[in-house]
Amino acid sequence: MTTTAELIELSERRSAHNYHPLPIVIHEGRGAWVTDVEGRRYLDCLSGYSSLNFGHGNTKIIEAAREQLGRLTLTSRAFFHDQFAAFAAGLGDLTGKDMILPMNTGAEAVETAIKVARKWGYEVKGVTPDRANIVVMEDNFHGRTTTIVSFSTDPDAHDGYGPYTPGFRIVKYGSVEAIREAVDADTVAVLVEPIQGEAGVLVPPDGYLRQVRELCTENDILMIADEIQSGLGRTGDTFACDHEGVVPDVYVLGKALGGGVVPVSAIAADESVLGVIKPGQHGSTFGGNPLACAVACAVIDILNTGEYQARARELGGVLHERLRGMVGRGVVAVRGRGLWAGVDIDPSLGTGRDISEALLRRGVLAKDTHGSTIRLAPPIVVSEEDLLWAVDQLADAVRELGG
Ligand SMILES: *Cc1c(COP(=O)(O)O)cnc(C)c1O
Repeated sequence: MTTTAELIELSERRSAHNYHPLPIVIHEGRGAWVTDVEGRRYLDCLSGYSSLNFGHGNTKIIEAAREQLGRLTLTSRAFFHDQFAAFAAGLGDLTGKDMILPMNTGAEAVETAIKVARKWGYEVKGVTPDRANIVVMEDNFHGRTTTIVSFSTDPDAHDGYGPYTPGFRIVKYGSVEAIREAVDADTVAVLVEPIQGEAGVLVPPDGYLRQVRELCTENDILMIADEIQSGLGRTGDTFACDHEGVVPDVYVLGKALGGGVVPVSAIAADESVLGVIKPGQHGSTFGGNPLACAVACAVIDILNTGEYQARARELGGVLHERLRGMVGRGVVAVRGRGLWAGVDIDPSLGTGRDISEALLRRGVLAKDTHGSTIRLAPPIVVSEEDLLWAVDQLADAVRELGG
């Protein structure tokens, strides 16, 4: 029999070490729980970085995938297929936008938003060719392509991959003044995460998103919200921007849009913006394929009920109240919104990795983001009882490390 240790050893020997996984080999997942190859069960508090908002093996999503798998999986966009219209219209309605442009991964959707913003800048705003700039935030995470890492401030993500793509201005997150200072007549977009996930679930000051919206409107600049991790129910609203009643010009979506089954990403915008893209000017072989569309339609149906948003809001209240009670007892600070929390552990107790490993030993899957910050983002289907149990395990893990 192949053991956990053997599978880990082979994985590490035969694949690049671009991740540092926790020592667990997962075999099965159902709802908020996974089972490893040795039959041990763990509560999943990472949810594939919020790709599994609706749980492992969600019946509605899996049934849609299974039905589509047996019929038609790929056509390319050279032809129409019968799942595409419902997906485009459904996602357009969910976002309140005229149009969508489908891709696969989150990074591709961000790239799409950047390309559309530049093209819009030249063709609609009238920016001088090749002079467009986009304002981005410190500590951003938008993916791993060469252009995207060009404006990352994380040395691990950025260093060693030059020459870098120009045209980005990096400013402090949470400060509308910093954006105001950076914009000029050639600014075509502000690209912002409504809540910075990878940076440690950083919630900007109240009113920030509204002020960014106003600044963009006043200066004829596109507000691009990267809702790849914050969107689709996680924060207790469909989009994290909803919390401030803000509607960006461009939504960037991914992760949970694929229901934890297939990569599905897209941007959504009005025709005045997305209309700049003409045949042949952008695309993807797999983007908007029948399987992806069928799965995403099931996700959109789920979101249209509002049940998951409400549940994330309710459980989020419970989660944050419990976590706040831990501040001062090995926990330095807690942030987040809805069923999404960044927990700063006292760094003297150990690294985020130490805490993640202590949680693993207690049957909870979570991962550190930066330094000693643990991200908690269980599938929204998690029961209140299991959620509170996970927080108890965190308290216990902190105690074990001396907190
Ligand atoms: C995960 C993520 C991305 C990149 O998505 P991939 O599918 O990994 O390419 C981009 N932006 C945000 C905010 C993310 O969380």
